[in-house]
Amino acid sequence: MSLLIVGSVAFDAVETPFGKRERMLGGAATHCSISASFFTDVRIVGVVGGDFGGEEESVFETHGIDTTDLERIPDGKTFFWRGRYDYDLNTAHTLDTQLNVFADFQPKLSEGSRQARLVFLGNIQPDLQRSVREQLPNAELVALDTMNYWINEARESLLETIKVVNVVIINDAEARMLADEPNLVKAARKILSWGPSALVVKRGEYGAALFTSEAYFAIPAFPLESVFDPTGAGDTFAGGFMGYLSSCEKLDEAAMRRAMIYGSVMASFNVEEFGTERVQRLTHEEINKRFQTFKQMTYFEATPFERAVKAAK
Ligand code: AMP
Repeated sequence: MSLLIVGSVAFDAVETPFGKRERMLGGAATHCSISASFFTDVRIVGVVGGDFGGEEESVFETHGIDTTDLERIPDGKTFFWRGRYDYDLNTAHTLDTQLNVFADFQPKLSEGSRQARLVFLGNIQPDLQRSVREQLPNAELVALDTMNYWINEARESLLETIKVVNVVIINDAEARMLADEPNLVKAARKILSWGPSALVVKRGEYGAALFTSEAYFAIPAFPLESVFDPTGAGDTFAGGFMGYLSSCEKLDEAAMRRAMIYGSVMASFNVEEFGTERVQRLTHEEINKRFQTFKQMTYFEATPFERAVKAAK
């Protein structure tokens, strides 16, 4: 039972209508690994610069995340992202992206990482995602996330990478953009035709949907009154989704449906505070409680009308 996660490890500067942070721990692999650490053993693959200090390192350590394959470049600078959200918190506006140490990163997996059963190719250059994928020919399930930046900057490489994964986890605007198709159902069918057997579409405050060639499953988002900072919500969702799957023996559709709920539960905590702050202090009790609430929220009984229809048949 182990999950390998590759992706950005970053410093983020973020402004939302409710406040701002000039420098906080961020990155796709960071959000995803902290979230997944509540479900399974996690190893992280990435690179940081000399500005990445003991305080940041200790976040991984506290959550038992194996950082053997997190390379340190003492005279380099850590990946930096600056973003802003307006009142529509579903849309991030990227103001600056500095790849820094990620520009020349060549991941070489340790023996321990090569044994991973599940792999999450988090948001980063698609070439890098593929190079990790190629070092894990026996992984049971490989999932990938990406964003508009890479769809624009490295489309051909991204399409090559999508061909060699089992699951794509992406937000709805990016699914439409990737498929070059405004209708989400058609976009999903097109993405699945490239090779993956499942597509998970994250829809921010509207929930998430799972598409496979045979099935469609959709869930709402957890109804929250205070959303503070959506940064990392997508990666936190992926961490809950992949972390839960990693704890399952059978990776069938029923497991995927439950994984969608765990993904949403984890993302709902993430947005309550800035960056990784809320998820860092989460407890299993809180996760279980919200999972149960989610179950009640999406349960319904057959109505008299339906019974009547059945009786009339
Ligand atoms: P999300 O889960 O989609 O909100 O992702 C937020 C995280 O993505 C932030 O913590 C950023 O550091 C990271 N990020 C932003 N742009 C990129 C990029 N082009 N490549 C990789 N990671 C990025």
